Amino acid sequence: MPAHAPARAATASLRRHFVWLLLGVVLMLVGGVGLSLWFSLKAERQNRDGLLRLHAESARDGVKRRLDHYRSLVDKLARDPELEDLLRFGGSPAPQDWVQSRQPLIPDLHGLTLLTPEGEVLGDGTTLRIGPDCRAELRSRQPLRGRRLHLQRGVGGRDHLDLVSAVRGVDNELLGGVLLSMRLDALKRILEEAAHPGQTLTLLDAAGKTVVSNGEVADAAHEVRLDVGEGGWTLVGRMPGQTLTHSGKAQLIAGGATLLAVLLLLQASMLHLRRAMLRDIDATRDALTALAHGEPVQAIVPHYVEFAPTAGEINLIALQLQAQREQLEHLSLTDPLTGLPNRRAFETRFPQALGFAGRGLRIALVLLDIDYFKRINDSFGHGVGDQVLLALAQTLKALTRRADLPARLAGDEFVILLADLDTAGVALWYRRLADHFRSELAALGLDIQTGISAGQTWLRRTSRDTMNDALGRADRALYQAKASGRNQIVIDAPLDETGAG
Ligand code: GH3
Ligand code: MG
Repeated sequence: MPAHAPARAATASLRRHFVWLLLGVVLMLVGGVGLSLWFSLKAERQNRDGLLRLHAESARDGVKRRLDHYRSLVDKLARDPELEDLLRFGGSPAPQDWVQSRQPLIPDLHGLTLLTPEGEVLGDGTTLRIGPDCRAELRSRQPLRGRRLHLQRGVGGRDHLDLVSAVRGVDNELLGGVLLSMRLDALKRILEEAAHPGQTLTLLDAAGKTVVSNGEVADAAHEVRLDVGEGGWTLVGRMPGQTLTHSGKAQLIAGGATLLAVLLLLQASMLHLRRAMLRDIDATRDALTALAHGEPVQAIVPHYVEFAPTAGEINLIALQLQAQREQLEHLSLTDPLTGLPNRRAFETRFPQALGFAGRGLRIALVLLDIDYFKRINDSFGHGVGDQVLLALAQTLKALTRRADLPARLAGDEFVILLADLDTAGVALWYRRLADHFRSELAALGLDIQTGISAGQTWLRRTSRDTMNDALGRADRALYQAKASGRNQIVIDAPLDETGAG
């Protein structure tokens, strides 16, 4: 590419620009809504974790309180003074009677039994509803020698929890013990009361097997584990994964609605902007087109105030161009020395005059030539010659009516179209012209022997008449005037014979 070639500017697309803008807005809004949702979900998650821990702690404390309660209950029973005699001597009342008299006072009781130090059940098994399996299990486990708290699974019916307390004599001799079996329902109720909807609380033993639970959770996303402090037990709280909350859904809907509203607003404003800009560009195009065709230019009134300075400049440039154009047009049609229309102007307006003649209007064409002009130039100089030319121009201007058209054809040769004059009128007009010319020269102080020779013709009605023909006829008449001694007018032919009248 040559160095002076103008660089081609890349044309940007308003549509593409707009699409990028929309995309940016969508991303920003989606990002904003997403971020706010993420924060609220995180806060919600922390909230749920905190609640689960609170409920699990409440359940654990409840379980501990209930166990302590049963432990103190079994200890209190073991301190019953009646038991020493009963265990030492097997006295009255019989063990099953002692048990039966206390059973109704203890809630959630699975069973109450007196034991020998070796773990043998005292009393009538049938009355106490203690089967042989249970008896064998107690015998083999020897509860008074093991841990005080024992979870019994699958023996003697339902799972239950055994608590044992030793009965000792005054000399601290082990006489036997009281075994209290509590139903696990009591613990389950504690978990059920502590748990909130959706939460499951499970008590696990040291082996990780479930002691009691208030339910199952399929997909636990939250979990807390608390040490119960009883026989290696653990309380596990679980909660399913978090779903979108009401406020989250509201946030999403509000975000979506905002996005839609912003998109619609942007779309509408971009369309409006585009339409307004196109209107301004169209107005500029119309102004330039009018300028190119030489028609009146309409000032551009921009839609947006921001474009007003530029539109003002364009309007000013258009006005300047229009003025320049008019000036150039004027110059191209005006003789610079005399200010009269020149040959081009005469040629331009001649067809109109032919048209008038065609419609029956009398139009006389008079060709004028200054006599001995060359001699004036030679004798007095070009300046004086110019003054003589100006004197004739002044004369023509003074005697010209609105409908007439004077012009300087070349050198000292002038022409005029006279409307609506007959032969006598033309002759009269010529006499006034010659007189006026003379007085003009006198006013200039020029004592010059000169005059004006004129040749006249009528524009003909026939459509075949042309400017050159008319000028030719007038030129022949002028020639006759010159030949006949100058300073006179020769009329081409009588009006009726020309066909002009
Ligand atoms: P005739 O009586 O037959 O018309 O003779 P003439 O001397 O007037 O001869 P012609 O009409 O041919 O003379 C024209 C002269 O006009 C020739 C030229 O030097 C002169 N001329 C043409 N243009 C100008 C001009 O603008 N200013 C001046 N001063 N002289 C001009
Ligand atoms: Mg001449």
